[in-house]
Amino acid sequence: MALAILHGPALRERTTLRLGGTAMAEVVLGTAEDCEALPDALKRLGGRPLILGYGSNILAADGQLPLVVVTPAMQEAPTVVGEDARGVLVHVGAGFRLPRLLGWLCSHGLSGLEGLAGIPGTVGGAVAMNAGSYGCETGERIDRVTLFDPQHGVRTLERRGLQFSYRHFGVLADAGGEEAPEYAIVTGAVFRVGVASRDVVHGKMQECYRKKKATQPVTSYSAGCVFKNPAHNLSAGKILDDNGFKGKRHGDMMFSEMHANFLINRGNGTSEQAEYLIQNAQETIHRITDLSLELEVKIIK
Ligand SMILES: Cc1cc2nc3c(=O)[nH]c(=O)nc-3n(C[C@H](O)[C@H](O)[C@H](O)COP(=O)(O)OP(=O)(O)OC[C@H]3O[C@@H](n4cnc5c(N)ncnc54)[C@H](O)[C@@H]3O)c2cc1C
Repeated sequence: MALAILHGPALRERTTLRLGGTAMAEVVLGTAEDCEALPDALKRLGGRPLILGYGSNILAADGQLPLVVVTPAMQEAPTVVGEDARGVLVHVGAGFRLPRLLGWLCSHGLSGLEGLAGIPGTVGGAVAMNAGSYGCETGERIDRVTLFDPQHGVRTLERRGLQFSYRHFGVLADAGGEEAPEYAIVTGAVFRVGVASRDVVHGKMQECYRKKKATQPVTSYSAGCVFKNPAHNLSAGKILDDNGFKGKRHGDMMFSEMHANFLINRGNGTSEQAEYLIQNAQETIHRITDLSLELEVKIIK
């Protein structure tokens, strides 16, 4: 399958925050093998690559951006590829949507990822971000990941060669990660899940989604939590709330009234307004509490 190249994608239309200008081009990768032609395509097109899943953790800058969007669109549906005493192995393509994977796991009575219910995004984005909630992290259930990078080409790494931490995914040095590649693309993943009754899995997912809906503005334009929690027992949302950021507005951007760590676009917001609020929050919180709020959302320029 050949690469598909599109011109001038609008990031506002490709991100859940509905912000961002126009990139130079977009390269759509349908299969892992398509990645082999990517370095030449990027050289030809110019511009830095932005690997883009569903765009649910991205704040893209306004204007013309010197970027080429790279879309890993590997859509292989979930398939059982093995089973042993430690669980069932399920392979899925990186472009497959995470909510659809959860639906499939539920209907097959497979358990372990229920806490991720309500997180938008692709499987590749969930691996790259080590997405997590309600005590469940993507990385905990990973058995192996197939990756492409320009130095190593396409390769599959077992979990011992991978590193997952709070909203972070990387490749360990002894697995060839000593020199950070210019970019790396997750093309597919194998999850290890457990067997459970469908009703139990469904009930847990419903419960997590119900909690999420009750506490987060899930239907607004947002990119989820803007800042990481500074420590395990220190919530960035609570710190922002305690310091008056709930409902704080600049132009059409605002910290949600429901959850202060969610930055909301009320419709006509700009990235400049979003960045103003982010910087203002970081400076104010640092001045008052001495805490540094680190970004969870990826700012793309
Ligand atoms: C309403 C809402 C609720 C949310 N709740 C949560 C939550 O509870 N927990 C949580 O962790 N997150 C949450 N998020 C954030 C977001 O959904 C997750 O981070 C998600 O995993 C991002 O997936 P994506 O496909 O949208 O990735 P994108 O936003 O497109 O990309 C995110 C990052 O991953 C990289 N990336 C994406 N795909 C690949 C790939 N195939 N290979 C390599 N790199 C890649 C991108 O370059 C970028 O750096 C929420 C977001 C919203 C809008």
